[in-house]
Amino acid sequence: MVVKTFKSDVVTINIDHDKCKGHGDCVDVCPVSVYELVDGKSTAPNVEECIECCACVEACPEEAIVHSSC
Ligand code: SF4
Ligand code: SF4
Repeated sequence: MVVKTFKSDVVTINIDHDKCKGHGDCVDVCPVSVYELVDGKSTAPNVEECIECCACVEACPEEAIVHSSC
């Protein structure tokens, strides 16, 4: 299982790259542009910007995102 971890001082986002289909719903819904697709998989390079709204977790149809605040 390939799980990528992105941490700020406040939150941790784990993205399961085995589940991620790379269609970008997380990229589209995040109001502060935390996510970016890299080689067809979701990453969260701007995790420091997260405002803990949980839209990404709710939007992911593959349940690939685990967020410490959601
Ligand atoms: S919404 Fe889920 S499956 Fe789609 S790109 Fe984002 S993490 Fe991957
Ligand atoms: S919780 Fe909200 S602000 Fe944080 S990464 Fe997900 S969609 Fe973006």
